Amino acid sequence: MALVDTFGRSIVNLRVSLTDKCDMRCVYCMPEEGMRFFRGAEILTFDEIERVVRVAVDLGIRKVRLTGGEPLLRPDAPEIVSRLARIEGLADIGLTTNGVHLERLAAPLHEAGLRRINVSLDSLDPERFQRITRRAAFHAVMAGLAAAERVGFHPIKVNVVAVHGTTEDEVIAFAELARRKPYQVRFIEFMPLDGGGAWSREAVLPGREILARIHARWPLVPVSRNGHAEPATVFRFADGRGEVGIIPTVTEPFCERCNRIRLTANGQLHTCLFGERATDLRALLRGGASDAEIARAIADAVLHKEPGHAINEPGFRRPAHTMSRIGG
Ligand code: SAM
Ligand code: SF4
Repeated sequence: MALVDTFGRSIVNLRVSLTDKCDMRCVYCMPEEGMRFFRGAEILTFDEIERVVRVAVDLGIRKVRLTGGEPLLRPDAPEIVSRLARIEGLADIGLTTNGVHLERLAAPLHEAGLRRINVSLDSLDPERFQRITRRAAFHAVMAGLAAAERVGFHPIKVNVVAVHGTTEDEVIAFAELARRKPYQVRFIEFMPLDGGGAWSREAVLPGREILARIHARWPLVPVSRNGHAEPATVFRFADGRGEVGIIPTVTEPFCERCNRIRLTANGQLHTCLFGERATDLRALLRGGASDAEIARAIADAVLHKEPGHAINEPGFRRPAHTMSRIGG
């Protein structure tokens, strides 16, 4: 089976949000106050998530990434990993976390079968980290990264949201981290998914500028990877000491290569980060639908996948949802 949309894109990648809640309040992801979160019963159970993933894998999904909100706020997160790890045909499971609970959970997650982990870290300065995340958790995140390394996660990717006027003066320090540690550091362009307020075009620090800064200090060579399309453009240091990447969603959109769909914590299937149209899989799951009916709903949603995010087109309207709610 293959999930192919009307633009010929093969959809192999499913992002699953375990919760929209978070113990941070990153400025680029949600407002400080007034966030409303889904109530407990609205959130998919692990049985429901497992069922959707099984059906999606039968349709051609090969990669799943668990995200949120903060996925490790579901205390039994290792259990969903081990359930998904048993699904035949699912080649790859990853998880994206803010790292706060990773020191404690790295070993159980690894034992459950998780190998790929992305940790968000926007500053190497504890005070600046606190200004960005609105939480004093820098040392917990660093301890989480160290634990991930210790238990043998590979790859470990560090996600840095690049914000103009903030990130520039740490680009070299992050590149140095990528040279010193076995972490691939990826700079993600700031997208208009912060719930209003923080994003502006001027606040986007283009990925190319970041690469130019790093290249001037330590020459970079592009890495070409076969296999499924990834949003990151990856480079290795010419002297062989590590890798950095950019995810230039705003300045160099890669929508024509997009191979992903997203399941929100309350069971809505979105086919674009910026898409407000969703398919209510939870209603099907809880309404007694058969696997075939769920499969049809997923395939139908894919057929209507948006051509692209349109951020750079006149008349672009920001979606009402935040990154935390749709599942970044
Ligand atoms: N809480 C986890 C974390 O922070 O890693 C997982 C969810 S978070 C929404 C997933 C990724 O989206 C993080 O790397 C975060 O930095 C990134 N992100 C959040 N808001 C963003 C925005 N407006 N633009 C670009 N990336 C963003
Ligand atoms: Fe939470 Fe992650 Fe959003 Fe930060 S980026 S507020 S850690 S969901």
